[in-house]
Amino acid sequence: MWKSLKDLDVSQKTVLVRVDFNVPLDDQGHVTNVKRIRETLPTLRYLHEQGARTLLLTHLGRPNGEVVSDLTTDRLVKPLSELFAQEGIEATVDSVAALSGEEVQARVTELPEGGFLLLENTRFDVREKKNDPSLAQEWAQLADVYVNDGFAVSHRDHASVTGIAKLLPSAAGFSFETEVKTLTEAILSPRRPLHVVMGGVKMETRIPMIENFLENVGAEMILLGGAMANTFFVAQGHAVGISLYEQEYVSIASTLLERHADRLVLPVDVVVADAIESDQTEVVSVDAIPSSKMVLDIGPRTLQAFAGVLSGAGTIIWNGPMGVFERDPFLAGTKGVAEVLAGASADTIIGGGDTAAAVERVTLTDKMTFVSTGGGASLALFEGKSLPGIEALDEV
Ligand code: ADP
Ligand code: MG
Repeated sequence: MWKSLKDLDVSQKTVLVRVDFNVPLDDQGHVTNVKRIRETLPTLRYLHEQGARTLLLTHLGRPNGEVVSDLTTDRLVKPLSELFAQEGIEATVDSVAALSGEEVQARVTELPEGGFLLLENTRFDVREKKNDPSLAQEWAQLADVYVNDGFAVSHRDHASVTGIAKLLPSAAGFSFETEVKTLTEAILSPRRPLHVVMGGVKMETRIPMIENFLENVGAEMILLGGAMANTFFVAQGHAVGISLYEQEYVSIASTLLERHADRLVLPVDVVVADAIESDQTEVVSVDAIPSSKMVLDIGPRTLQAFAGVLSGAGTIIWNGPMGVFERDPFLAGTKGVAEVLAGASADTIIGGGDTAAAVERVTLTDKMTFVSTGGGASLALFEGKSLPGIEALDEV
């Protein structure tokens, strides 16, 4: 078991905290959703109360190792300060346009006890993603201890996630712990029966997830929707028109269907259209998908069938939207599943970046037991993998 922040002496220390403030930005570069920042408040409050000087490390967007003026971390000062004000945390928050070196060192020295300094976007430096030890060394020189409160980036073997953790006394922050514990418990000791709803697009990660849930976790039922179900339709022998599907996974899908027919639930009807941009929709049975159309959502009979299965669940894990929820004509399936989960007495656990965004879009986030901030990181846990960011932390 990893060391917790509470096991670390941070009183009046300089603490380097990896957070994941990779928040969505609008055209003007303003932050549009602060959920990921808000989740770290328990950790930041604790550090403030301990009189620590806290240096925050995060990436933002995809600058690919170059300085991109639209992705600087100074824009995060205001939302963080506002959240502090709302929560009654009276701390100074500032940023510095560098990741290490004299300028940062000078600012660290000036930092008051309990204060916060955002360092520049970690991905402005090519060494971050390469996990170059020289970058981790530069960070280690700035601080006494390291805390990881960025669960969403913990599947990455990057300098700010794993490299630095090995150089300083290290521990998991509170939101990191909550994420790992909640997701791990949902897999290892869920209230039974455990049903999994899976959709979205990427077969590459979903196939190992399905296998892990069926073979290791022992999930009772897996309900499939989204573009992913199209590959299973092909495996079932249905024509899918011009739908998105992945030919290379058809044979694995067939094998899974043969082996686990009683535990895999596939859509019986779907919403089709000429194109994603189209508003002209039609509901058809899965054995009657027109050759000129594409599947863009699950149909109403499917939703009803899913609701029936899920009504008996002790735990429901959901990853992957049921359709192209970003467009209203194809939102119903995803919205319907979200409503079923919101009304269920089961523990409801949501993982995946787009799935969380979909639940947010239909304003049901508060009705779920837990919505993970981790996209790829939550999927990695569902696949049964360990996360490099967890492995790198000191053991108790
Ligand atoms: P997550 O981020 O939650 O893990 P994914 O990234 O795998 O989920 O999938 C989300 C995307 O899948 C959404 O952008 C959605 O539009 C798309 N999608 C879902 N169903 C379909 C479909 N039938 N055809 C095309 N795209 C789909
Ligand atoms: Mg996604």
